[in-house]
Amino acid sequence: MRRLVSADNLLIATLWARVLEDAGVRCEIRNRFIGAALGELPADCVSPEIWILNERDLNAATLLLDELRTPRGLAAWRCPRCAEELEGQFYQCWNCATTQHQRG
Ligand SMILES: [Zn+2]
Repeated sequence: MRRLVSADNLLIATLWARVLEDAGVRCEIRNRFIGAALGELPADCVSPEIWILNERDLNAATLLLDELRTPRGLAAWRCPRCAEELEGQFYQCWNCATTQHQRG
């Protein structure tokens, strides 16, 4: 077991843990219940932590977290139907209404 990172709140910790698990990094969230048990403590004393089970996952996990914490712009995409070039934030082609998840 190795502590990977502490998150600002449980919501973020849960999100990060899910992404890590999806990538094959086994991890768990600690301090999950301390906040409820010690309700008077300020939130920053009970930040949830993400621990990884296998040290060999440390590099991959660190890279994943870096990407999560510094979100880049979504990649531009080309509509598979009409070949329109679209900005990453657009989910749907403005030209022919093809949605992005239909590509590929
Ligand atoms: Zn289109």
